[in-house]
Amino acid sequence: MSTEYLDIRSCPKCAGSHRYRLSVERAYVMKLMTMADLSERPRRVSFTRLFTCPKKNEEFQAEITLTDTSSSRIRRVDVLGTSEGNE
Ligand SMILES: [Zn+2]
Repeated sequence: MSTEYLDIRSCPKCAGSHRYRLSVERAYVMKLMTMADLSERPRRVSFTRLFTCPKKNEEFQAEITLTDTSSSRIRRVDVLGTSEGNE
């Protein structure tokens, strides 16, 4: 499990910018490398999650795009909350 940060620059509720902490669980896959793997590009994977605007305390949906590869698959993404004021 790792913590990653997501910046929302234009909040749909207050038009401000917020930084959210995400908990990302990746499954690391051990495998032998082949020539096909070496030329493989990371995939962009999108997840839709609910976020809470810290100014208005209202929820909105947003899409998160993360990078996935064949040896590190994203299994789960959770929004932990905003990181404003305590980082
Ligand atoms: Zn907001």
